[in-house]
Amino acid sequence: MAYDYDDSNIFARILRGEIPNNTVAETEHTLAFRDIRPLAPSHVLVIPKGKYVTMDDFAENASAEEIVDFMRTVAKITRDEGLSTGEGGNGFRAISNAGNDGVQEVPHFHLHILGGRVIGPMIQLRD
Ligand code: AMP
Repeated sequence: MAYDYDDSNIFARILRGEIPNNTVAETEHTLAFRDIRPLAPSHVLVIPKGKYVTMDDFAENASAEEIVDFMRTVAKITRDEGLSTGEGGNGFRAISNAGNDGVQEVPHFHLHILGGRVIGPMIQLRD
């Protein structure tokens, strides 16, 4: 079964320039912007410009060029935000929610980069 991409999702609208965003990095294949409801002092969302629903959709179907571009943008964000442990930062957490059980709100693949404070326990299960 294929991944069913919904063109009306909010990140698709951001990519089409229909609604504003607080961009922190942009490349040919990737956009990174600040989360509108930040859960940490630094909360950046990294998204591919291509139409991928979840991380596994992206991992399976994106080109090598898109994947490298995405991951290099992650590295740029952790460096620019002062989070990278390779640059004297205190680290970060990267989260990607997928589907119903992952409690994904926006059905366009995105990686949350959270840092600037201790993020806490890895997960909290909710019923
Ligand atoms: P997820 O549950 O992983 O799908 O998370 C979606 C994230 O997108 C949430 O953290 C929202 O705060 C964030 N979000 C929703 N709309 C916007 C927007 N217009 N600009 C920036 N972040 C947004």
